[in-house]
Amino acid sequence: MRQILQNKLFAIASGLILFSTAAIGILLGRSVLERSSVLEDSLVQSNNRLVSQTLERIEAQILETDRGLYALLPESGPQDAIAKLTGPDFTLPPLIRGYYLCESTGRLLYPLANQSAAAGLFRQKVFPEIRLERIAPMGVYHLHTRINQENYLFSMLKFITGPEGKEFLLVQEFDLDNLDPFFDPFLTELRKTSYVCIRDYDNNVIHGVPFQVSRKYFVEERFPNTFYKWLFQLAPRNAAAIEQEAFNRRLLNLFLGLFILLLILSAWGLVYLSRREETKLTRQKEEFIRNVSHELRTPLSLIKMFSEILLMGRGRNEQTRQEYLSIIFAETERMGFLINNVLDFSNLEKGLQRFCFEEVALGGLVRQQLEVFDYRLKKEKVVLSLEEEKSLPLVRGDRNALAMILLNLLDNAIKYGAESERRVIIRLFAKEGKVCLQVQDNGIGIPVADQMRIFEKFYRSDSMAVRKIRGSGIGLSLVKYLVEAHGGTIRLESETGRGSTFGVCLPALPAPAV
Ligand code: ADP
Repeated sequence: MRQILQNKLFAIASGLILFSTAAIGILLGRSVLERSSVLEDSLVQSNNRLVSQTLERIEAQILETDRGLYALLPESGPQDAIAKLTGPDFTLPPLIRGYYLCESTGRLLYPLANQSAAAGLFRQKVFPEIRLERIAPMGVYHLHTRINQENYLFSMLKFITGPEGKEFLLVQEFDLDNLDPFFDPFLTELRKTSYVCIRDYDNNVIHGVPFQVSRKYFVEERFPNTFYKWLFQLAPRNAAAIEQEAFNRRLLNLFLGLFILLLILSAWGLVYLSRREETKLTRQKEEFIRNVSHELRTPLSLIKMFSEILLMGRGRNEQTRQEYLSIIFAETERMGFLINNVLDFSNLEKGLQRFCFEEVALGGLVRQQLEVFDYRLKKEKVVLSLEEEKSLPLVRGDRNALAMILLNLLDNAIKYGAESERRVIIRLFAKEGKVCLQVQDNGIGIPVADQMRIFEKFYRSDSMAVRKIRGSGIGLSLVKYLVEAHGGTIRLESETGRGSTFGVCLPALPAPAV
């Protein structure tokens, strides 16, 4: 039940992770693709802002000059204004070429139309262009015009004065002959990063160095209030560098994004693998419990059956009774072996395995253990031979642990033995400072692919032949652990269908001095 719930939760979590990874991937891709146009737009936008701010600052300077018009406003009649303009203290403010005062009909009061060429020009060409009705009383209005190939800028103030309350126009003409010193202070900073140019509608350059309008991120804007017939143009000098930088940033973002995606996917992969391992281990543990219970049940039922026969006094004669008793003894030994195996394995898992090391003669120990196996060997019709070298050196080991090694190897040799003519050879010999124990059978053998894995806990070969035979999958992992705990090595030689030879070598103790 818990397992099913865990599986469901894992499936949901995996779905969510994969879905969000895909969503991030799509967003990343889109942002990378869209970024170039976003970049161009934002560059153009920031240039537009820059141009607007510059125009505002330039115009603010001109509007500041316009305030001079209000200072000239008459108190009682137009003569007051003329008196101020012609007074000895009056000087022209910077950028101003001259002043005009006229009636709303266009009749010039100052300077008189016939007094100067400029006055005549104003009367004949400029005044007709002024939309008087559009100017609010006491409001300032600008006229930017071109007369005879010349540029003119006027600012004018409409006011009402005199006993009859007539409308008058006070106009100031800007000196546009030398505009460079006027524009320069506003544009010096800008020129460091951008090409800047002011042109009139006929594309004549008014100020700055002309550049191609096809340049990237080019923007232009008309002066909103004053020089409204002129265009202010701007393009960044280092468009390529800006693009390169943006490209690098985009590339970096892309790599970072991909790296994060990779991290998420790898994390998910690790979770998936560990989950798979966990599920496999749980399955193996369940199978282990099933197998162990089954293996215990078999000797238990034999013990029960033969002890019942004996209790009911149905043993035919003393020899039969002895035989039944030896069966009970052998099955008890077998059960003990299984239980010891499981307990040792569980101690090993918990790190609680303890050894009691002493000097051991392996030959004696093997012969002692074989006696216990006698009944089983006969029952399973196994021909066992022991080939023992004389005067073997002693080894340092735990007697129980060494017995477990032999019993597990022998148990496997019988279990996975040949169908008929089963033979098991046990060899004991000394080699290169080691004492070796070999258990050879002529059984089913072990496929090469399984030869490394059979020493893993719970691992069992997946062949039909092995599946038919009950086992818990802990024997060899226990053997390997015990051998290594004794400073020894274990080797396997096997061929499918021809049998297996397990060889355990333990360090030999030096022979005692005579
Ligand atoms: P068990 O025998 O309880 O399954 P083991 O750890 O003792 O567990 O063995 C692991 C696996 O190694 C067995 O399932 C079997 O596939 C294989 N194996 C071990 N010994 C032999 C052998 N002598 N002949 C063939 N296969 C063997």
